[in-house]
Amino acid sequence: KSFKDYKLGNDILKAVDMLNFKSPTKVQSEVIPFALEEKDIVVKSQTGSGKTAAFAIPVCQMVDWEENKPQALVITPTRELAIQVGEDFFNIGRFKRIKTCPLYGKSPYRRQERELRQKAHVVVGTPGRVIDHIERGTFDTSQIKYFVIDEADEMLNMGFLEQVETIISSLPKDRVTMLFSATMPSDIQRLCDKYIKEPVYVEI
Ligand code: AMP
Repeated sequence: KSFKDYKLGNDILKAVDMLNFKSPTKVQSEVIPFALEEKDIVVKSQTGSGKTAAFAIPVCQMVDWEENKPQALVITPTRELAIQVGEDFFNIGRFKRIKTCPLYGKSPYRRQERELRQKAHVVVGTPGRVIDHIERGTFDTSQIKYFVIDEADEMLNMGFLEQVETIISSLPKDRVTMLFSATMPSDIQRLCDKYIKEPVYVEI
């Protein structure tokens, strides 16, 4: 298997090559083809499996560079993970000049607001700060087409269920949703049943 087997632009393939990703990992080979067909996906897989690139590669491929409002939102349980995922998007999207805006707490609003006002294709953030920006009117979610919940089990362990639901209710109904979790306890299953219609299930 090769990344060239997928319908990816040369700008994405070049970035993947520069990252020295020779061939897709298992989770990537299961997720990327469905994601490129804009299917909703629920993935059970551990960190270290290459799950970040499994969503970042298709999202970078699918975003429309010309659109000025954010088109993709990734939520993560921690600030550290938001920064890491943001860096992965930067690396994968660099030749397409994808702009990623990280949003997390204990960091000034002013800079985040400026980044949101400028072209920001992808927003990566923790639930609390994402909601703050939505409520302040500084994060316009009307053009979000791709929504990723990363480390969903950690998110719920940290007590973010209600905030995750608040975010979901502010997103357009017509969107692609991908949920990644290392475990699938019943509260995650309930979240999937409630908000993700007929997803493809992938277990690594
Ligand atoms: P993650 O599971 O997203 O935290 O990724 C774990 C590590 O695997 C990261 O350091 C990635 O850069 C690396 N990685 C992701 N995809 C590939 C790939 N296809 N080939 C080699 N390394 C990869």
